[in-house]
Amino acid sequence: MDPAVRVPTLPGASFRLPPQLEGLRRLAYNLYWSWHPEARVLFSYVDSAGWARYRNPVAVLSGSIQWSDHLASTAFMAEYHDVIRDFDRYLANGREHWFHRLHARDLDGPIAYFCAEYGFYESLGIYSGGLGVLAGDHAKTASDMALPFIGVGLLYRKGYFRQTIDADGHQEHAYPDYDVSRLPILRAQGVDGEPLLVPVELPGRTLQVAVWCVQVGRVPVLLLDTDIPENDESDRPISHILYVRGREMRLHQELVLGVGGVRAIRALGIAPAAWHLNEGHSAFLLAERAREYVAGGLPLEEALARVRRDSVFTIHTPVSAGNERFEVDLVRRVAGPLLDGDGRPNTGGVPVERILELGRGNDGDAGQFDMTAFSLRLTNGANAVSKLHAVTANATWQAVVSKPILGITNGIHTPTWVGTPLRELLERYLNADLDNLDETTDRGRFWERIDRIPAPELWAAHMRQKRELAIFARGRLRSQFARHGEAPSVLEELDSVLDPEVLTIGFARRFATYKRAALLFTDIARLARLLWDADRPLQVVFAGKAHPADRPGQQVIQEIFTRSRSPELRGRVFILEDYDMRIARFLVQGVDVWLNNPRRPLEASGTSGMKAAANGVINVSVLDGWWDEGYTGDNGWAIGGRETKPDEAAQDWADAMDLYRLLEEEIVPRYYDRDPQGLPLAWIETMRRSISSTIWRFSTTRMLRDYAEQLYLPAAGLEVPDPAAGAPRRQIITEAG
Ligand SMILES: *Cc1c(COP(=O)(O)O)cnc(C)c1O
Repeated sequence: MDPAVRVPTLPGASFRLPPQLEGLRRLAYNLYWSWHPEARVLFSYVDSAGWARYRNPVAVLSGSIQWSDHLASTAFMAEYHDVIRDFDRYLANGREHWFHRLHARDLDGPIAYFCAEYGFYESLGIYSGGLGVLAGDHAKTASDMALPFIGVGLLYRKGYFRQTIDADGHQEHAYPDYDVSRLPILRAQGVDGEPLLVPVELPGRTLQVAVWCVQVGRVPVLLLDTDIPENDESDRPISHILYVRGREMRLHQELVLGVGGVRAIRALGIAPAAWHLNEGHSAFLLAERAREYVAGGLPLEEALARVRRDSVFTIHTPVSAGNERFEVDLVRRVAGPLLDGDGRPNTGGVPVERILELGRGNDGDAGQFDMTAFSLRLTNGANAVSKLHAVTANATWQAVVSKPILGITNGIHTPTWVGTPLRELLERYLNADLDNLDETTDRGRFWERIDRIPAPELWAAHMRQKRELAIFARGRLRSQFARHGEAPSVLEELDSVLDPEVLTIGFARRFATYKRAALLFTDIARLARLLWDADRPLQVVFAGKAHPADRPGQQVIQEIFTRSRSPELRGRVFILEDYDMRIARFLVQGVDVWLNNPRRPLEASGTSGMKAAANGVINVSVLDGWWDEGYTGDNGWAIGGRETKPDEAAQDWADAMDLYRLLEEEIVPRYYDRDPQGLPLAWIETMRRSISSTIWRFSTTRMLRDYAEQLYLPAAGLEVPDPAAGAPRRQIITEAG
């Protein structure tokens, strides 16, 4: 089928553009710019102050702009034409992509992908962390590879909280209030030409859900929104913030995502070939689809079997609190009428008791509705997000699944995460095409030619990325400490911190306690000796948010902040506020070492280490999540081994000691071992191994191919093609498979 799924939309913000520059409007409303730096540069030429302030082209174009200057600038006009030409070419060329020809062209419809959050870019605040960033990278890659694909999510007008850290180290939360008319999203248009609304019945009223569309290259992602005047004041906030805390409101949110999402797709006349639940938050889509089949005349069990046949599910966490559960009485009361059809004609009718039965958790507790268990029972295939996670997931969910949970390891969208200096080297010396990774061609296996990059140039590119981080971080620290009321002399100190010549460790992630962010502080004296060594110093940059309800996580932030201001560590340890995709890019591109020390095996995959590795940053990590399979012995370091002690404190201590030993005996010496030109040759060699061992294996290109072959094509009733033979063939579909 056509690789691009089309969602009709209504016009957006009413800014005026000179007719010669109309292309900017199309470009602004396509997140293509979020992974094409030259498109972002173009918007920063349009209005550099506006770009710096909003980092969002629609907001830039909504400002007042001196167009006559731009129209008179041949350099600007040439840049404009180049960017628009590449953009148009990108949108036109899908059918030529190897993945489309091999895997996607025989699909009858798109893959419908449901996720509660998407991380596309920092200025579209509808994500909280790794799950969202993975979903964003997945959608961008589906676009690059021309997989027919449509995403469904929620439009959070107040997003995830913005973090500040006060002078005592307390995390403060502020919720932004996005002006949707200035976001790069458009209202979807219904068949009647009006803004599309879909109904979701709640007890005693019918909620109206507005449907927005964010265009991600070729891929549309529908964002559902309850904050419209048609709804009662008390229902409008349902979609305001990510993972709202109140249980009933959360259930409403997940009904909007699952049920509203299916109805939005139907209202647009789209017929998916397969349905992918990325995480269990969207699981009500399965119930809604069963209800549809029953309304169409199928008996209940047959309806459930049909739903199961073309649905697939990804499980994302081995931490039990990460699996959503609701009290069955709440589900009965809130979702019962909707599912049962409430006696209304032609509404289908899926008895809520059957749904609750299918959602019984692996502990058999009949009082809880478990979204993960429900999703596992009603899907054709499921995967965990690393090989190690598949082992733990199969052990946990043994009683629920009928076939093994696959291990499809996460990846990253390389063009989003690799810094421009490094990317230029990969393209120049290796004939790489990061926009189109392809393992099967000689050009594609560019990572095997990594040794062709001259050491001085690899080092220079890395140092450029490091300097960019230093400049950015100093600015952030300055505004943080100015806000705390620090003296000008203290602020001046900050202008010379984060010397790029100093070995720099980065640690940034959610501050869930199992991630043990403060492990490095186990022995302060030993750490201080490392940091302040006269010839071979070390510095550490932290960033990360703790969930507003996670007090222990917030205490870890406070500990790090307090340590960073203590006399022993001050000037060598820093924590940046408000971790987001922008800070993540600076850090994964601009430190030397990426540290990750979770309590094994609680990290399902992790992706920030993959972003770092692709940039030649070296991972030092516990053998957990992706690193358990990514570590090759020569591409970084492993903290501890694969055995775990039953006593957590003993395990923490052992891991901390091993981390210090690695730093003292291996990492610091290798970094500071220089040749006469000042180059750390052994370190650069490790950087090369870091890049070459990960840039394909932990890319979303490889990941999406695996999803297609192992989950999407089977769910869509297609055989997985033999690459030598060309196109896939249709399978004989057996009933109720
Ligand atoms: C990549 C990323 C994450 C995921 O990081 P982990 O390795 O899973 O801890 C979280 N937040 C942001 C902003 C990211 O860019």
